[in-house]
Amino acid sequence: METMNRADGLAAVRAEITRACRDAGRDPGRVTLVAVAKTFGPDAIEPVIGAGQRVFGENRVQEAKAKWPPLIARHPGLELHLVGALQSNKAREAVALFDAIHSVDRESLAVALVKEIARQVRKPLLFAEINTGAEPQKAGVRPQDADGFLTACRDRHGLTISGLMCIPPGDEAPAPHFALTAKIARRNGLAFLSMGMSADYPVAIAFGATHVRVGTAIFGVRPPAV
Ligand SMILES: *Cc1c(COP(=O)(O)O)cnc(C)c1O
Repeated sequence: METMNRADGLAAVRAEITRACRDAGRDPGRVTLVAVAKTFGPDAIEPVIGAGQRVFGENRVQEAKAKWPPLIARHPGLELHLVGALQSNKAREAVALFDAIHSVDRESLAVALVKEIARQVRKPLLFAEINTGAEPQKAGVRPQDADGFLTACRDRHGLTISGLMCIPPGDEAPAPHFALTAKIARRNGLAFLSMGMSADYPVAIAFGATHVRVGTAIFGVRPPAV
């Protein structure tokens, strides 16, 4: 995979997004590709920026903090999204660095974010993560608690959540999970849906995804975590 041409990977994903939008009767301009660069260094990321990609995702605050400031300084206009779990004690760093956070899933985190958003006068786009499979080991709000959580964020904490995110269970068909997430978003009046990874982003687009989070299909297989 070291020799994989990442600009070609990006072009293939863009073409597939366009095709999926055409099939769904949707405007490709309404689907944001978040290129998830976790574990990859600047040498892998630069060619993808060179090919025109501007929105990138990371799943760990520390890794992003080490990697992105020089890239952002070199390439004005980049947008950085946190797609992985966020600890409340990292809210300050996350609000400073990220333009979007896809993983709001607890009131304690909502409180920490409200405070930092006010303090830093930054306004990242926020998604609540829904644990659609109700998997005990997985982050996210249970579907039956989603409406209550969103109401609490808005009315109790004054936090604006703009969309929902889900990661379907690895061993299940993703479509019902995307459909459920879209339904919860619709009844709560939320405009954005972060759904779909390398294996299933065309399906997610059929169910209304506005943000697809794609890593492997662009960057290649990640080295095993250390
Ligand atoms: C790694 C990751 C992705 C990208 O996954 P791929 O299968 O490599 O496309 C998307 N979303 C989250 C939350 C991730 O951690």
